[in-house]
Amino acid sequence: MSGRLAVVGLGPGDARWLTPEAEAALAEAETLYGYAGYLERVPPRTGQSRHPSDNREERARAQAALEAAATGAKVALVTAGDPGVFAMAAAVCEAIEHGPAAWRSLDVAMIPGVTAMLAVAARVGAPLGHDFCALSLSDNLKPWETIERRLDAAAGAGFVLALYNPISRARPWQLGKAFELLRRHLPAATPVVFGRAVGRADERVMIATLLEADAVKADMATLIIVGSAATRLIARPDLVPLVYTPRTGELGP
Ligand code: SAH
Repeated sequence: MSGRLAVVGLGPGDARWLTPEAEAALAEAETLYGYAGYLERVPPRTGQSRHPSDNREERARAQAALEAAATGAKVALVTAGDPGVFAMAAAVCEAIEHGPAAWRSLDVAMIPGVTAMLAVAARVGAPLGHDFCALSLSDNLKPWETIERRLDAAAGAGFVLALYNPISRARPWQLGKAFELLRRHLPAATPVVFGRAVGRADERVMIATLLEADAVKADMATLIIVGSAATRLIARPDLVPLVYTPRTGELGP
């Protein structure tokens, strides 16, 4: 019998955001691989083995999961959010491209999940209601100059920005620098959404203006949405404001 590798998106955290397809892939897996923090979110099942790993070992984890599938096992490799968004699906493709020829015949399925920017956007209204783009602020895998160039180009072209991996202990200054750069393109009142651990018990969502946006308020579990010049805020009595980017009217450059 031939093996199978399912690269499964668990969504941002809330169990209600796990798709039925992802749930089925987890139920039929004999072996689970993934970063320990994500594997903890999957309820244990008898007869299922688990191989937790460190978050930085992406390539080794992809290879180990493919090796297990090549022995004929049904393997699930779990990721937070969607596996194709700054996560394991690309690492699996890369391992297949450079790995043994036999891996190209494996049954590999990417199972989509709710990515963090969609969950954060849904909490505040519709900031991604018109054209937007997603960037990772991590300069572990690309030079910081590339990130600056992309921020400049995207903000200059009027896109709303979803910023993944905004800050970490090893990358403390990048987000502050990004806000500084964006202030050159955008009005001071542009809404900025900080969505932290959305869908989990320690969720915290905050809305600031670009002028006030403070990098200290973000951590590794935060996704940031920076509006465009068209993004608006609707104040509501006794309720949190709505942030949205209209699909009509003056849409910027
Ligand atoms: N594959 C994931 C993203 C992995 S990159 C996805 O599709 O969501 C890791 C980054 O995702 C974090 O630094 C943070 O910016 C964001 N993130 C992941 N889960 C989150 C959550 N529950 N709330 C807010 N941001 C989250």
